[in-house]
Amino acid sequence: MDDLNPGDVNLMADERQASDQFSHLLQAVRKRVNKQQFATWFQRTTLISWSNGELVMGLPNRFYKEWFHKNFRSLLARAAEEIGQAPVQIRFEVAETPAIALDEEPSPEPGGPTSPVEPTVGQAGSLPFTGSGPEDLPLRFHEHYTFENFMTGPSNRVAYAAARAVANDPGRAYNPLFLHGSVGLGKTHLLHAVCRQFHQRRPDQRICFLSCEEFTNEFVQALQHHNLEHFRQRFRNVHLLVIDDIHFLVGKERIQDEFFHTFNRLYQTHHQIVVSSDAPPSEIPTLQDRLISRFKWGLVAQIEQPEMETRMAIVSRKADLLKIEVPNDVVEFIAANFRNNIRELEGALLSVSARAGVAGVPIDLSMAQEALEPSIHGGRPPMSLDRITETVASHFQVKISDLRSKRRSRSISLPRQVIMYIGRETTNLSLDEIGDHFGGRDHSTVLYAYGRVKDKMEQDASFAAEVERLLDRLGAR
Ligand code: ADP
Ligand code: MG
Repeated sequence: MDDLNPGDVNLMADERQASDQFSHLLQAVRKRVNKQQFATWFQRTTLISWSNGELVMGLPNRFYKEWFHKNFRSLLARAAEEIGQAPVQIRFEVAETPAIALDEEPSPEPGGPTSPVEPTVGQAGSLPFTGSGPEDLPLRFHEHYTFENFMTGPSNRVAYAAARAVANDPGRAYNPLFLHGSVGLGKTHLLHAVCRQFHQRRPDQRICFLSCEEFTNEFVQALQHHNLEHFRQRFRNVHLLVIDDIHFLVGKERIQDEFFHTFNRLYQTHHQIVVSSDAPPSEIPTLQDRLISRFKWGLVAQIEQPEMETRMAIVSRKADLLKIEVPNDVVEFIAANFRNNIRELEGALLSVSARAGVAGVPIDLSMAQEALEPSIHGGRPPMSLDRITETVASHFQVKISDLRSKRRSRSISLPRQVIMYIGRETTNLSLDEIGDHFGGRDHSTVLYAYGRVKDKMEQDASFAAEVERLLDRLGAR
């Protein structure tokens, strides 16, 4: 402080005053917009300067800038009036938001291990990520899958907040954290973000991030090589265990047992567990009750389909990350037409950008419409009964040959009816053609099955959700 001259001190006082004013302004804005709008638009604004009646606000990208210009200028002016700062000239500028601006300082860890933990021992490469150093991060974690790049709205806010809480306060906030939602809605993205943030704050602690399949494979290999003890030690000594797509545990009793014990061990030692799934615990078929109840000990958070504003924010953020210029009306067009799956939203953005690249012209609306026309109007790969049958059979854990047989037990006939239902909903096959697929059943059988499933879906919400998830997996929605 000794080297500061009085001018600097004044400057600092001015800055502090501006920053106070700005936070009052945001408080006033908060009262005038709904929660979602505030989170989507205002949380990432920054103050660049505010002096002599001119406020310069920093926004994360060009799309925000246009949007603010169009939608929020008068609102901001009124808010300024409310806090006694009118008249004010407002300008918007694109400015990088500070990384993880909303985070508190990393907290020291009471009771945590005092010495750095050795990286997990084991065969080289057997654990995808062991927290052994930051240089591992880019290998394993998608660089864009951060909290900062995760756009929130009512559809995903709880999941997002929970994921952050867990990354900041592992083992205490919510343990386990169970995220679920249909495909392409950001589960894997959030899991990566948790690991990344956890790693930044606790570089010495061990993370294990695996898909359910990898966990299963590791286990099977351990069984084959008779080194189960080793497997157990590895998984039970991590500080953060993250398993993606846990619904693939269906029907695997032994691995469920193993997971159960791993779970208990980590839970007892207050180490964090995070899992994702395409369904809530109680709706994963053949998941053991004891696992279901364990998952419910913590927080079960759903990610739903994002609403229009969030989708727009996502498209514009992705455009930013990809460094492509996308006009507002194109962002809106894409967000309006791709509703169910963020991956599709991104795919759409990429097709438009590819078309613009090939043509060597900037992106505009008519080009976007042209590029996306086929995918908006039925350009999907044709659905086949074989694919439907495989997916349904594996979901219900039944054999395809049984489905095609004359067996009428309920465990077989329900999946069979579901296939017929999905077949009728998603293919152009006639009822007879669908019947043929099941050993020459006639069209009235198919029609009956269709009606049964439809009725059941109306009466039983969890069954309906199950069928919808199957449709998701088939990419049929
Ligand atoms: P899931 O694991 O649920 O199938 P992913 O995490 O793979 O979905 O997400 C699919 C794509 O959508 C990823 O590229 C991810 O970055 C993006 N995405 C999903 N939700 C959001 C969001 N809220 N904000 C930004 N990108 C998102
Ligand atoms: Mg995923």
